[in-house]
Amino acid sequence: MHTLSVRELGDALRRKEFSSVELTRHFLARIEQYDSEINAFITPTADIALAEAERADIRIREGDDSPLLGIPIAHKDIFCTQGVRTSCASKMLDRFVAPYDATVVERLRAAGAVMLGKTNMDEFAMGSSNQTSHYGAVSNPWDPTCVPGGSSGGSAAAVAAGLCPLATGTETGGSIRQPASLCGLTGLKPTYGRVSRFGMIAFASSLDQAGLMARSAEDIALSFAAMSGHDPKDSTSASEPVEDYPAALQGDLKGLRIGVVRDQFGAELDERIGSRVQEAISLLESLGAELCDIALPDCALSIPVYYVIAPAEASSNLSRFDGIRFGHRAQDPEDIEDLYMRSRSEGFGAEVKRRIMIGTYVLSAGYYDAYYLKAQQLRRRIADDFARAFEKVDILAGPTSPMTAFPIGEKMDDPVAMYLCDIYTSGINLAGIPALSVPAGFVDGLPIGLHLMGNHFSEGRLLKVAHHYQRSSDWHRRSPPAFA
Ligand code: GLN
Repeated sequence: MHTLSVRELGDALRRKEFSSVELTRHFLARIEQYDSEINAFITPTADIALAEAERADIRIREGDDSPLLGIPIAHKDIFCTQGVRTSCASKMLDRFVAPYDATVVERLRAAGAVMLGKTNMDEFAMGSSNQTSHYGAVSNPWDPTCVPGGSSGGSAAAVAAGLCPLATGTETGGSIRQPASLCGLTGLKPTYGRVSRFGMIAFASSLDQAGLMARSAEDIALSFAAMSGHDPKDSTSASEPVEDYPAALQGDLKGLRIGVVRDQFGAELDERIGSRVQEAISLLESLGAELCDIALPDCALSIPVYYVIAPAEASSNLSRFDGIRFGHRAQDPEDIEDLYMRSRSEGFGAEVKRRIMIGTYVLSAGYYDAYYLKAQQLRRRIADDFARAFEKVDILAGPTSPMTAFPIGEKMDDPVAMYLCDIYTSGINLAGIPALSVPAGFVDGLPIGLHLMGNHFSEGRLLKVAHHYQRSSDWHRRSPPAFA
């Protein structure tokens, strides 16, 4: 059952080949068997899963044919889940039990998806390797000595190891697409505002956006509408109508204009990844797409711009974790100052503290103009780069990540090397546009990803291109041998 796609699972459930309870038990058993090796889950929720599966079975018997009904899903532990620990992989929230569900969780539940548990991640979603989690590093199912990418590394490892067919993730600068690339999955980062951020613990509010990871674009197309759309509880959520994503997959790629982002095939890119990505783009050409080269000159500044704006917003968002309103509280404080200081010192890990310090610095009176204001101006220019490109082409293509999965332990003492993992992804978040990573081959036995980027609200088109690619390739069907 764990090798079937979301579509196949849904068909089998409706044909009563197995029940959602049986399916759920199968995945819970796999989590039990394999997760000690992978560490993808912080909190498995077996009882909730079985209760939800029973309810799904009743709906199926009544003839409800919603595509997600009875399908198991895992949620990144950044989404509030009522009555269940919501830790953000931080000691700060180790004992936080959310009093309500995030809109994403609530909507997916209403659609009949069955929550298997909460997945591991980088602490407060800060990282590209899932090594900053309070609950320990996650292993990449393709090579357990390597990282799965981050920050949604637990979700990615869980889907790749067949511990669930579908998982939510979130992005601020690449945290769905980069782990999808490193784990051989399809991962969608939607347009900013497409999905409600209500109940999603904030990192950098102008960049954060929830999305999905699955094996195929078709699986995402079947699932994505259920979590999307305007939410009165999030004033930044978009009122744009939600597309019929499965319908958007139809047709062909004839005449589709693809801009190949040439500047993203530079010295920082592993050449072997570059050739795989080039082959993937050529396959799209053979399916009828027209190629041209596109330059995104200001996009090269994405990493420095991102690492001013994201920490600035983080330093403000994370101020609520003071041991009084939210979060870990230090024992026996001498006075209020001591309580704040020790609660935050004990509760946050090193990377989170680094971000708070950078953020506080770039926002401080003497430096605001030099750093924060400058970064905002450059953010606009990066968005303009993309806007100009989309006057000429329908989508952009390039590599998702400059490297394959790297060994656990690497880059932890070199933050800048870690930050460069998102060199191709973070510009998308700064511009607020959607993008997708699609499995496009292997280098030394490790997966690599093709990055497809589109204009605002072009999720349907991106999924269509990925779907047609996946009908002509089988990279997305490979599973790590140890978890087959
Ligand atoms: N790796 C980036 C960071 O550490 C992006 C993280 C994310 O998208 N949540 O900020």
